[in-house]
Amino acid sequence: MTNRPVLKNPNETLRKPSKKVALEDIPSARIQTLIDDLIETMKIENGIGIAAVQIGIHEQIIIVDDGHESVALINPHITFRSPTMIDFEEGCLSIPGVYGIVQRHKQIEVEALDRRGNPVLIKGEGLLSVVLQHETDHLEGILFIDKVVRYTNPPRL
Ligand code: ZN
Repeated sequence: MTNRPVLKNPNETLRKPSKKVALEDIPSARIQTLIDDLIETMKIENGIGIAAVQIGIHEQIIIVDDGHESVALINPHITFRSPTMIDFEEGCLSIPGVYGIVQRHKQIEVEALDRRGNPVLIKGEGLLSVVLQHETDHLEGILFIDKVVRYTNPPRL
C-alpha cells in the first residue's frame, strides 16, 4: 500500500465528475491497488472518508470509515434521503484547516458495489450519513464549502 498525495483546493481536478467503474475492472490489480492506496492515504491523513478524485483518479470509488472498518464503495448512489436534516460540522482532506456547518440528511441509504464487485446497501445515520453524502458529492465535483452555511474555524472542540 502506498500513501498518495491528496489534492488541495483550489484544483480543477477536484471539480471534474468521476466515471463509473466497469464491473469487469473491479478485480484488476489497478483497481484493487487503488482501493488499498485510498485506505492507506485516508488513515495516514486521519480522515474518516476519501474519494478517488482526491488523489486525482476520476473513478467512482469512495472509502468510508463506518466506525468499525474502512469500507470501499464502488459506483455509489444514494437511493434514500430522510426529509429530516441535521447541521453537521465538516472538514475535508482537500481543504486543510477549514471547517464549517453543512446541512445534511439525517439518514441516507446508498447502493454500491463492494471491492469484490458484490452489490451492497449501506444505511447511514448521523456521522456515517454525513460522510457518505460528503464523499458522494466529491464524485460530482462538489465540495462541502459549496454547501457550508457557516464557517467554524477554528473548529469547535
Ligand atoms: Zn472531502
